Amino acid sequence: MNAEKIVGSGLLDICEKVEAGERLTFEDGVRLYETPDLTAVGYMANLVRERKHGARAYWVRNQHINYTNICNKFCKFCSFYAKKGGPDPYEMSLDEVRQALRRYKQMPITEVHMVGGINPRLPYEYYMDLVRAVKDERPEVHVKAFTAVEIVEIARVGKTTVEGALKDLMAAGLDALPGGGIEVLSPRVHMELFDRKIGGDEWKEIARAAAKLGLTQYATLLYGHIETVGERVDHLVQMRELQDETKHFLCMTPLSFHPEGTDLEEVPHPSGDCDLRNIAVCRLMLDNFDHIKSFWIMNSAAVTQIALWYGADDCDGTVLEYEITYADDAPRTKAQTLTVANMRHMIEEAGRVPVERDSHYNEIVRADEEPKKRELIPLPVAGQA
Ligand code: SF4
Repeated sequence: MNAEKIVGSGLLDICEKVEAGERLTFEDGVRLYETPDLTAVGYMANLVRERKHGARAYWVRNQHINYTNICNKFCKFCSFYAKKGGPDPYEMSLDEVRQALRRYKQMPITEVHMVGGINPRLPYEYYMDLVRAVKDERPEVHVKAFTAVEIVEIARVGKTTVEGALKDLMAAGLDALPGGGIEVLSPRVHMELFDRKIGGDEWKEIARAAAKLGLTQYATLLYGHIETVGERVDHLVQMRELQDETKHFLCMTPLSFHPEGTDLEEVPHPSGDCDLRNIAVCRLMLDNFDHIKSFWIMNSAAVTQIALWYGADDCDGTVLEYEITYADDAPRTKAQTLTVANMRHMIEEAGRVPVERDSHYNEIVRADEEPKKRELIPLPVAGQA
């Protein structure tokens, strides 16, 4: 089908670049955010998504551990940290961390994702022991832990450098940094929403140091609060440049802002259009990122199904317990989970082929799986008659 019939003459020049595999400019990114034609943006993002991954939609069996919600950074967009009228403070002992891991011992999870608040009472050895405890309980899992902000805190309490802290954490078993901690690379947003945390330049230095040491990394964009379209696009351009330089980012996850329980409660929750558009624009701007994730807890399972046709190729995982934000329809308890059957159904109902992956996006094939679940059926590229 003629692309002009789908995207219209107003976006045809961008569509031609997408079809030719050319890099989009900052101005292109702004136009993709500003056009009312979300379907056209999704069509183009899907061209890239299917060129890279066909009909595959990745998911992982994972467990999240949020080891403390005590935090001295008071970010205005955060509902997770302990505060008056908010969540009660907690700090998990190493025994509690081990118990949390044992709770799901019978499940073949492949990844443990650990992040927490910036709790100045925790000593350097706590962080090392935390990683060791995971590797001790589940030697086979990939440990993805600590934002750049936590890494700075760990180095501070250890009276060492960032490189020193990263090396010690790697010796304890750390495999990857989950990204996060910078939200949007904008000095204005940094000053207004999270001025106690490190700024963009320091965040990038930590990403570079981690890349030099060989740590896998992930990237995020928190959208839907006070950031402008230009700031979103600038964040993506800066991430793309950092990826050109380091080649260590595996995936970008656009994160939908949840205002409930934050200092920005008056900000409306991002709409479905906003969620899908951010997925699609990330896919189109980040030509050097292999994967774009729709994190179902923040986007909802329903939006994630559509996102699989708007540029996303990954849904995150079964999760088990998570406390940073809550799915709209989830009770505010720790347990937030999709069973393996739910995950597969969510993907298959959306017309995609579920592929269980490890943390490096290698396919995991389990002996007890029905063969038909593993067939990678190529679906028609969007727009083909
Ligand atoms: Fe603390 Fe992280 Fe929340 Fe900021 S976002 S207040 S650093 S837990």
